[in-house]
Amino acid sequence: MTAKRMTVVRNGRVLDIKGHRASAADILIDGDSIIEIGQPGLAAPADAAVVDATDRLVHPGLINAHTHGHGNLSKGMGDRWTLELLLTAAPWISGNRTAEDKYLSTYIGALEMLMKGCTACYDLTVEFPQPTPEGLGACAKAYADAGMRAVVAPMVANISFYEAIPGLLDVLPSALQKEVERLRMAPHEASLAAMRTILTSWRLDRELVRPAVAPTIPHHCSDEFMRACARLAREHGVGLHTHVHESKAQVIVGLKKYGKTPTAHLQDLGLLGPDFVAAHGVWLDQDDIKRLADHGSSVAHNPGSNMLLGNGIAAVKLMMEQRLNVGIGTDGAACCDNQNMYESMRVASYASKAQGPDNRRWLATEDILEAATAGSARALGLGDRLGKIARGYKADLVFIDLNHVNWIPCNDPTNQLVHTEDGTGVHSVMVGGRMVVENRRPVGVDFTSLARKAEAARERLAAANAGNKQLFERLQGLVNAFCPGLAKTPYHIDRFAGGHHAHYVR
Ligand SMILES: [Zn+2]
Repeated sequence: MTAKRMTVVRNGRVLDIKGHRASAADILIDGDSIIEIGQPGLAAPADAAVVDATDRLVHPGLINAHTHGHGNLSKGMGDRWTLELLLTAAPWISGNRTAEDKYLSTYIGALEMLMKGCTACYDLTVEFPQPTPEGLGACAKAYADAGMRAVVAPMVANISFYEAIPGLLDVLPSALQKEVERLRMAPHEASLAAMRTILTSWRLDRELVRPAVAPTIPHHCSDEFMRACARLAREHGVGLHTHVHESKAQVIVGLKKYGKTPTAHLQDLGLLGPDFVAAHGVWLDQDDIKRLADHGSSVAHNPGSNMLLGNGIAAVKLMMEQRLNVGIGTDGAACCDNQNMYESMRVASYASKAQGPDNRRWLATEDILEAATAGSARALGLGDRLGKIARGYKADLVFIDLNHVNWIPCNDPTNQLVHTEDGTGVHSVMVGGRMVVENRRPVGVDFTSLARKAEAARERLAAANAGNKQLFERLQGLVNAFCPGLAKTPYHIDRFAGGHHAHYVR
């Protein structure tokens, strides 16, 4: 085997997040990893490939801690949807997908993320009524083909949305009760067997794309299934990822069903640990935050989705004060209709500041940028090699054009990445030492043919899911009357009085 050629990145301005500055430095890369960072003119082998980064700000690739690759073919399909209406719409907006559709949807999202400065993500993808190695393989291949890092997990459940919410089935007329019966999930043994096959037969380079386990929402899974998912993940040394306290209705269901919060229940089931990611965490109280922090778990904060679905704003400042690791995500394009991590960072900043004038409770731009890089990297289980420009870390680098209008002038790179950059200033992107976006274009991608394929898929899926759309239209009024009703149950979390205690009245 011949040694891989080294690469040297010369004359870029390398971001120091906490220092709010970017000084000129050269970066030496061997294979896929950074081996040295030094003053301009850094010694490099004579045959090293040179990347000229003059007039470029170099920042670590952003890492999307929570997304859904299947959402990219459904972007823009809804508006004024709560989380519960989004779940009601799922058979319409994500149903009847072929393996090719799954690939296409994920691939579109991967390209969008790369073009917008994001080099790795945690993707929870759906297959109904259970995962298949072929389906997950299609998603994984999409990331590998795009040259993007990803942790991909099939979202699994053995209880349908209608069975999961106590009382919801009872308010449906019998004809609709019958119709939603066909939305039953597979028995948990079948999903577990499929996941086991996926984990044991993984062929892709795990440094680029690796599998994980994702029981989707606690009350959509039986306790036995949740425990089995945790055992499976730990047997195989892969991550565990669940939607936790996303909507208020979810917490109320948990309190009714378990007599405690879903997070307390997850702790009792043995799910919490350093490998565990709680997506959202909007309705965590102080005890839940402590539970997650004590176990070294992570929260994936998705402020755009949380605002769009009316779920609220997570107490990220409090999480960080409790030393709970926080990563930042976009969530799927069906509930945050793009995959732009710069936007997620800006929304995270604005959402924290919009809550009141006490600026001691606000997130600082460096907290947010750290969360979107090193914090998300830890959530992916890759904190020792992603999320930083440092020796021994992967060469996942974003090159921002400092002659772009977003950067004229460049006063403070940390503030401007969070508050000014919108993705249009990204000039090129490197993953593992290889350029995957050059001069604003993903390398080797034919967008005209991609758009044609997506349009054909869109048309075919619209026809195939016409019945599911009708079903959604018949259900939405009933679900919308019932679930926000649940959310009206008195349950108050005071985030600003320093107490952050929850009050629940049964
Ligand atoms: Zn999600």
